[in-house]
Amino acid sequence: MNAQQHNGQGTKSRSKRYVYSFGGGKADGHAGLNWLLGGKGANLAEMARLGLPVPPGMTITTEVCTYYYARQHSYPPELDKQVRNGLTRIEKIMGRRFGDPENPLLLSVRSGARVSMPGMMDTVLNLGLNDTTVQGLIKQSGNPRFAYDCYRRFIQMYGDVVLGLKPESKTERDPFETLIEDKKAARDITLDTELTADDLRELVAEFKALIQDRLHLTFPQDPQEQLWGAIGAVFGSWNNPRAVTYRKIENIPEEWGTAVTVQAMVFGNLGEDCATGVAFTRDLSTGEKVLNGDFLVNAQGEDVVAGIRTPLPITLAASRQRAAREGRSEEERKTLYPSLEERMPECFATLQEIAQTLEAHYKDAQDIEFTIQKGQLWMLQTRAGKRTAAAALKIAVDMVHEGLIDERTAVLRVAPAQLDQLLHPTLDPAAAKERLARGLPASPGAVSGAVVFSADDAEAAARTGRKVILVRIETSPEDIHGMHAAQGILTARGGASSHAALVSRGMLITLDGSTGEVFRGQVPTRDPNPDTPEFKTFMLWADHFRRLRVRANADTPHDAKVAREFGAEGIGLCRTEHMFFEGDRIDAVREMILAEDTAGRKRALDKLMPMQKGDFVGILRTMAGLPVTIRLLDPPLHEFLPHTEEEIVDLAAKLGVPAERLRAKRNALHEVNPMLGHRGCRLGITFPEIYEAQARAIMEAACELAREGVEIIPEIMVPLVGYKRELEILRERIVRVCTEVANVQRVTVPYTVGTMIEVPRATVVADTIAAAADFFSFGTNDLTQMTLGLSRDDAGKFLPDYLNQGIFPQDPFVSLDQSGVGLLVELAVRKGRAARSDLKIGICGEHGGDPASVQFCHQAGGKRASTTLAAATA
Ligand code: PEP
Ligand code: MG
Repeated sequence: MNAQQHNGQGTKSRSKRYVYSFGGGKADGHAGLNWLLGGKGANLAEMARLGLPVPPGMTITTEVCTYYYARQHSYPPELDKQVRNGLTRIEKIMGRRFGDPENPLLLSVRSGARVSMPGMMDTVLNLGLNDTTVQGLIKQSGNPRFAYDCYRRFIQMYGDVVLGLKPESKTERDPFETLIEDKKAARDITLDTELTADDLRELVAEFKALIQDRLHLTFPQDPQEQLWGAIGAVFGSWNNPRAVTYRKIENIPEEWGTAVTVQAMVFGNLGEDCATGVAFTRDLSTGEKVLNGDFLVNAQGEDVVAGIRTPLPITLAASRQRAAREGRSEEERKTLYPSLEERMPECFATLQEIAQTLEAHYKDAQDIEFTIQKGQLWMLQTRAGKRTAAAALKIAVDMVHEGLIDERTAVLRVAPAQLDQLLHPTLDPAAAKERLARGLPASPGAVSGAVVFSADDAEAAARTGRKVILVRIETSPEDIHGMHAAQGILTARGGASSHAALVSRGMLITLDGSTGEVFRGQVPTRDPNPDTPEFKTFMLWADHFRRLRVRANADTPHDAKVAREFGAEGIGLCRTEHMFFEGDRIDAVREMILAEDTAGRKRALDKLMPMQKGDFVGILRTMAGLPVTIRLLDPPLHEFLPHTEEEIVDLAAKLGVPAERLRAKRNALHEVNPMLGHRGCRLGITFPEIYEAQARAIMEAACELAREGVEIIPEIMVPLVGYKRELEILRERIVRVCTEVANVQRVTVPYTVGTMIEVPRATVVADTIAAAADFFSFGTNDLTQMTLGLSRDDAGKFLPDYLNQGIFPQDPFVSLDQSGVGLLVELAVRKGRAARSDLKIGICGEHGGDPASVQFCHQAGGKRASTTLAAATA
């Protein structure tokens, strides 16, 4: 799409349209053009088309912003004429001329990106005032104080935004504000409103002198120069540090650019019959369907946000609620905070009507800005209101019941991150916080606790009921008991599960796992409350539309139970090695690793497998009727061995072997690149007894339950396969063992054998591997690590630089690298399905919990996703 297609003048003889006018009941643009006119410009055009009272104006398109940055801050040649024409139209509608000494038109110049970036870019109000036109404004308004107040505000904003007059040091306050404070002190007054017309006239002179003095510039008196200065400043503000940071956080592309809207000023500060305010068509914190908002009498827009005066409620009901809360009498209420409904009933009625019109038109809750000038209501902005998670859910569900939107729209109205908020405690946004550090976010939710530096301390603290955060350089299997006991874990190393390094002993900290931030002390949290009728209705609708099935990653019967309660449709990944860390099992595991020969390994496995079988019974029973994917041993063996000299001596004593032998074994198992070493199916190939013992434990558990009549669906998964032959060999052994068990037990248990797809080679030869697999599960943690050549354990050291410099749009271990790793996934899906049309495909890397990656899987799964694509998430 380009502007030509929309401007109704797409003939070659006409120039491209860069300016879209609105007002007087007409508009060139409409709401659908927000990519070109910015949200503000597009919605002003739409409101004008709806016949709502909008001050006339024009919007300069985002394409001019792109041009401006591409061509050394210059404009398309056609722009000047188009702006002049737009201005003439505004002048005609308003019956005033820009720069007219008798009856001047004043303008506002505002930014507006495709999505709202509140407060990030710049605005200039009261533009067009100079030493001559201010006299015209006095005549027009009959109010010298008002006119000089507008002029001093204009110089102040223009001086800051366009001319760049800022405080010279961090300690200096706004130099314009200092002059105002000095003036008030000289007059012995405290409020800005007590300044007289003469005071303000003097301030105008002082402001101009300040600009001359600091910038060696004369404040521009030519309104055209002012206008183009302001337009340039607004385009320039697209790249101010605030806006750049906001775009990064919100993933807003740099190339979108901002539009500039130039609009006739209306004044809420012309007297007691004037006001300015904001209104919301629904309560955006609870979702309740009530018009609400705030206003200020005799004020200009920025006064509402500046927080200098306390705004009043617009509805009588809200005013009464406030009085009840504060225990005020009706008399007190009327004097302290009378509502707009009471003070200006006609304007309120109009506002109510417009709010209804806008909701019905946009079919969404609106956030509206308005100004009342001498009893006439003007609309300055409307946009979809930003809302809390609870409100988003309620509004979406209510609007379906009101017949405004359909269920599909409702499901799309609630962002995945908002649903997440409903399921985990979140930090109270209003609470005071002191941020100590920021790391990589590793899991949603927020927790607080005292800092401890060892797993033993964490466990000891937990036994006394104390809440702790375990802080480690990195975690190892040795720490598992402390990790369980701690509320949260903060590490300096380790991929997506790493956080910032820390800090001092004896400190209480709070972690926000959703953002990776670390705060001092205990920041209050809000508990989740998903148990509402709206949540249930919403999830039922979502179930209706989704094509993916959702399983959980769980390694214990307890986790399986929690997953099932949350609606998991199976277990997508049960990492058997996690079971090896429980209690004393690690000793038997170590005995197995240290064994000199197969017989020794078998003896150790004989001790370990009854325990593992017990876990399988527990998990399979909990998930009765649902599939459970159990993965055979994956990590390199040395991970289970002791690291420090002290631990080696301890273990040697326990096992009754010389410490020397242990040291030698550890050294023998040492690998330079363990992640690319002797792990996954390679262990199964070289030590057949390990996988055979695991397969036996799974099948014995399955047979035991089958005999009890429990419906079980075990799926045995082999990790790290890159060659068809690897899977063939292992599959044959697994099937042999399973058949033996079933024969001995005299029960038939259906089971499947599949593979993880996590080595890049496996994606490329997925068709051959599919011939030996009943299912694929993408291990996108390893697939990312190996495709990007990026260590899961060490990337945390430089990942922040890669993110800050925009090399990685996002942490690739959190959100799937769709244009790289994603292509391999798509290739494997295509090849796998071509070889075996009934192949069940899923993902079990941590990406299964990331909304953007889930969306990718939904698309990669194609039409048959409904039956075959499973996302597993922690
Ligand atoms: C993976 O690699 O994505 C995976 C799920 O396996 P692990 O994280 O255990 O290596
Ligand atoms: Mg893996």
